Amino acid sequence: MTTAYVYHDDFTKHDTGRGHPERPDRLRAIKKRLETTKLVEQLEPLKFEPADMKWIKRIHDDAYIERLARACKNDEPFIDAADSAICPKSADIARLAVGGVLATTDAVMKSKADNAFCAVRPPGHHAERDRSMGFCLYGNVAIAAEYLLVEHKLERVAVVDYDVHHGNGTQHIFEERDDVLFISLHQHPKTLYPGTGFEREVGRGKGEGYTLNVPLMPGGGDTVYKRAFDDKVLPKLRDYKPQALIISAGFDAAKADPLAQMTVSADGFEQMSKALIDAADDLCQGRVIACLEGGYDLDALSDGVERLVRVLLKAAK
Ligand SMILES: [Zn+2]
Repeated sequence: MTTAYVYHDDFTKHDTGRGHPERPDRLRAIKKRLETTKLVEQLEPLKFEPADMKWIKRIHDDAYIERLARACKNDEPFIDAADSAICPKSADIARLAVGGVLATTDAVMKSKADNAFCAVRPPGHHAERDRSMGFCLYGNVAIAAEYLLVEHKLERVAVVDYDVHHGNGTQHIFEERDDVLFISLHQHPKTLYPGTGFEREVGRGKGEGYTLNVPLMPGGGDTVYKRAFDDKVLPKLRDYKPQALIISAGFDAAKADPLAQMTVSADGFEQMSKALIDAADDLCQGRVIACLEGGYDLDALSDGVERLVRVLLKAAK
């Protein structure tokens, strides 16, 4: 079958201003790489609409959604924190990004595609229920997980986040629940934004044991990540037996990335992507939805995405 693909030129219209690392050129670089490698010809592009707000409201508070809309309307430069830069169109584009991700969950669940890659921005994994953080407006992946549980009636969804930053938003949204397993590998919180994601954060109440944080010391590369996957990530996934797997695919653990200090190579990203997609093959009929998060060096970002897409396409054949 196929790998579904979500991209929209409007995603480049979320204008974060001059010098901002989370910039439209990130998506242009990805688009170009998928074209020059002709990988795009093998992908199944999906048509999609802005998400129904009812899905966004299941994850985010009304007050935040209204505040974001107002800030965009008033052409304010940012929402909540200076790094979450916005333009008048940003709320609509964030809603369109969610729509794209939800369209891939439908395609995968209705067996119209085996798996999917979403080239979206703004990213989502730092967005909290009630506020923006770290360039993220709506929790794309969190909303997709909720949608899989509610609309597609799954009972267990896993999210693995290999972006170099802790996926605090996704963690906090689900940390008291056992129907979403959240696993985040990231540079150690004592050394990197957002300063959360310690090993001791394992979920709370009913959710205890359904959050796994794997903080890694700065400088670590492919070998360190491979060990973390073999020792922690993959056993936890196998124990949980998810019915679908979402990857928060950030590529800022790359050696060249300007925002962090890990040293993952293109081979390393391929290794991680492949390990997850192989696990999904064993556990959940290969249902994988990979969703772009960070990655701020354009070459390293394009390399990481290319490797991920190659692995997705291979698994879909
Ligand atoms: Zn990141």
